[in-house]
Amino acid sequence: MNHQKLELIYQGKAKDVYKTDDPEVVIVEFRDDITAGDGEKKDILINKGYYNSIISAKFFEILEASGIKTQYIELLEPGLMLSHRLEMIPLEVITRNIAAGSLLRKFPFHEKQEFTPPIIQMDYKSDEFHDPMINDDIALALGFATREELETIKKTTLKINQVIKDFLARKGIIFPDFKIEYGRNYKNEITLGDEISPDSCRFWDMKTCEVLDKDLFRKGESGVINAYQEVATRILDEEDKEKWNIKD
Ligand code: 5GP
Repeated sequence: MNHQKLELIYQGKAKDVYKTDDPEVVIVEFRDDITAGDGEKKDILINKGYYNSIISAKFFEILEASGIKTQYIELLEPGLMLSHRLEMIPLEVITRNIAAGSLLRKFPFHEKQEFTPPIIQMDYKSDEFHDPMINDDIALALGFATREELETIKKTTLKINQVIKDFLARKGIIFPDFKIEYGRNYKNEITLGDEISPDSCRFWDMKTCEVLDKDLFRKGESGVINAYQEVATRILDEEDKEKWNIKD
């Protein structure tokens, strides 16, 4: 089928979702907009959408190969991901292997404290309410998911963490934490959506602890796009690099 972007059905802070001629299939466009702090800090970083779509596609492929249901169908071209249409659940599911970021501002953990088992935290995705931390009972009372679905989400998230952490370790990258989002597909199955990219994860170089993610933008540092490119270069195989014209 020749999939083309039709009507815009959702516009987020960094991605747009378009209908296609198949009602169960959408095109997710990764834009170059970058935001932080509930959208208060904004900029445009040329090629950010390009790298994030390629990086997310790679992670989705690895997860699919490990038996995890994702929205991913195919990367049509860098920036445009053909995806299963999902009814998204407004939860940000955050997994933490190492203490960093907001956790250190809210709780008396020490920097780089390691968590075994990892911590799973859920935030309510809402700029209006500033993404407050939520628990199962509040999520249930708000009708976001059933108890069984919340259990599925947590179990799947732990598996995703393990698969990606092990993969990144082989690429010399530490995986301190990440945020993912789920939705329901047309069969009402819990399915991984959104993206897995330097916008939504922390990635640190294993040897130098150099930051390779959006924290550079949050802190106003330079080299943001170079860091995203470095992640792409490390995780893609030669065939992918050739296909997407990524140079080492
Ligand atoms: P923190 O709670 O330290 O701000 O974030 C923990 C992890 O989840 C980081 O990897 C961060 O990138 C991700 N994360 C948390 N909230 C958001 C969000 O609203 N948007 C995005 N893109 N990532 C988030």
